[in-house]
Amino acid sequence: MERITWDQYFMAQSHLLALRSTCTRLAVGATIVRDKRIIAGGYNGSIAGGAHCIDEGCYVIDNHCVRTIHAEMNAIIQCAKFGVPTEGAEIYVTHFPCLHCCKAIIQSGIRAVYYAQDYKNHPYALELFQQANVRVEQVPFNAEILSLLQK
Ligand SMILES: [Zn+2]
Ligand SMILES: [Zn+2]
Repeated sequence: MERITWDQYFMAQSHLLALRSTCTRLAVGATIVRDKRIIAGGYNGSIAGGAHCIDEGCYVIDNHCVRTIHAEMNAIIQCAKFGVPTEGAEIYVTHFPCLHCCKAIIQSGIRAVYYAQDYKNHPYALELFQQANVRVEQVPFNAEILSLLQK
């Protein structure tokens, strides 16, 4: 039996989460991992019970949809909500994190960021990650591994 790598396993989880996104502009997923265990996951969407972009359209200010909470934030907030430490954890994201999420990731003690796709990679985010000694690595997702499910 063929086994998928840990990187592809966690990346697949983030891509699965992205399918739950409610924003029409971009579907993002994030998985927080500690000791090779998934401890939290998130996608970009509205606050619980709030209106969804897919139903009411995006709420755009300065070319950003302000209705949604980013996937990385949702995953970190889930840890806060349920009292799960993020210190020393790693995060797998479908897209390179924005500046706000970059700072939240650093501040939560996450020490590695694996992202599948480039997305407006901000040079200041890279600088901050480097300064905080957070490992940043691109891990392209190979969607073909999902075909293993059919065997
Ligand atoms: Zn939106
Ligand atoms: Zn973000």
